[in-house]
Amino acid sequence: MKHILLALLFLCSISALCQTDNITTQLYDTYENYKESTIGKRRIKHADIQPLIAEISANKAFKVSTVGKSIGGKDLSLISIGSGDTNVFLWSQMHGDEPTATQAIFDILNFFESPDFSKEKEEILANLTVHFLPMLNPDGAELYQRRNLLGVDINRDALRLQSPESQTLKRVRDSLDADFGFNLHDQSTYYNAERTEKPATISYLAPAYNYEKDINETRSNAMKIIVFMNEILQKYAPGQVGRYNDDFEPRAFGDNIQKWGTSTILIESGGYPEDTEKQEIRKLNYVSILSAIYTIAKKSYENIAIEEYEKIPENDRKLFDLKIEGATYNLKGKNYIIDLGMNQIEVDYPDHKSFWYSSRILDQGDLSTYSGYETLDASGYTIKQAKAYPKTLNSFEEVKALNFKDVLKQGYGYIRLSSFPSKHINSPFPVHLIGEKYKIPELNLMPGINPTFFLEKAGVIEYAIINGFLVNLKENTINVPNGMIFR
Ligand SMILES: [Zn+2]
Repeated sequence: MKHILLALLFLCSISALCQTDNITTQLYDTYENYKESTIGKRRIKHADIQPLIAEISANKAFKVSTVGKSIGGKDLSLISIGSGDTNVFLWSQMHGDEPTATQAIFDILNFFESPDFSKEKEEILANLTVHFLPMLNPDGAELYQRRNLLGVDINRDALRLQSPESQTLKRVRDSLDADFGFNLHDQSTYYNAERTEKPATISYLAPAYNYEKDINETRSNAMKIIVFMNEILQKYAPGQVGRYNDDFEPRAFGDNIQKWGTSTILIESGGYPEDTEKQEIRKLNYVSILSAIYTIAKKSYENIAIEEYEKIPENDRKLFDLKIEGATYNLKGKNYIIDLGMNQIEVDYPDHKSFWYSSRILDQGDLSTYSGYETLDASGYTIKQAKAYPKTLNSFEEVKALNFKDVLKQGYGYIRLSSFPSKHINSPFPVHLIGEKYKIPELNLMPGINPTFFLEKAGVIEYAIINGFLVNLKENTINVPNGMIFR
């Protein structure tokens, strides 16, 4: 009995969490019922969300209004629900290539449209009015870039207000005089929770409103909500939460909105293993943001101790997509032991709706303080240069007919082609394609080069690294999304 009591005490160290623990679990377990399936990849566009907004407009429970236009002339919509006195304002994607929370907002809207969870929804909508401004930078989203068409970072335009998107955000914030604000972003997937190997899947900040980093009631309430959300995430992504440095940035929106009296919570969606399109992170946004809205409605956050906020580990940037540890590298007749950190860098196709990879070595040497989403202990293995396949092939069809595992096992990483169909800008195969006259440069490992080489032990090639992707040649699968073309 005593043990059970102790366990309960431990689980309910934060009473607000105790009260909402059940609902959080239910939200997580029933997520698929509300997930907006039409926006399942990161490169979503303004045109993708317009039909969803139109559908919501037809529902009388919601108030939908056009509150501004982007430089490119795209409508910015504000969607509101509820009749409570406390105003909660959520805006997403002021950076065009940060779409995860935009997707989660439409999942949350689906939740509000459904007949389920009626008791909890009544509590929310009687106490709060919740306002959503999804995709604040639709022109940036169109090009899948951070900045707007003016080339300005909207998050440095809170004072000068030159961008119509910034003017809209400021005007809406002021008109609502929101009590709580959720400033929703994505961060680099290479951030980790400080001094751990875990990615910062979600990072938080209760931005400072002055250089002294004072904590008034507005900021303190934001910290309490963050402590609450962190507890939830620890259940689903243990150790994968980070905290941003709170240096005051006088030009940023989060800092100013805090200053203007709205308790502001910055949420940054980072990386999660094997979740390239960040759909698990989207789900964590859905669960944690909805739970936070519920706790604001019930005011159960009020007794949370803000000391817990400082205990969330800080963000660091010590992750690679692939880390090779302790490989032997022969340079000018001498052997060296070297770690290699490489990233699988995305390059957009011209329509900015999909991408391919052009990977790079980011760092090399002693990388013992870094980790990888994927790590290979290569001690005892020697790095070998990739060679060109001895025969020149004439078409993609001939390349396609090759047994790639055999090709790689023999140390061939390049296939010479007599001609290329012009539409291809990369190799759809797990090898690079080279032109008839292309001379493969001697392998000279250096940050900036495309990581392509083999790992050999006792004269046998056991691993291939092609375009920064690791292939274990003892296994049957080859996971290299694409190679490069060098003409
Ligand atoms: Zn951002």
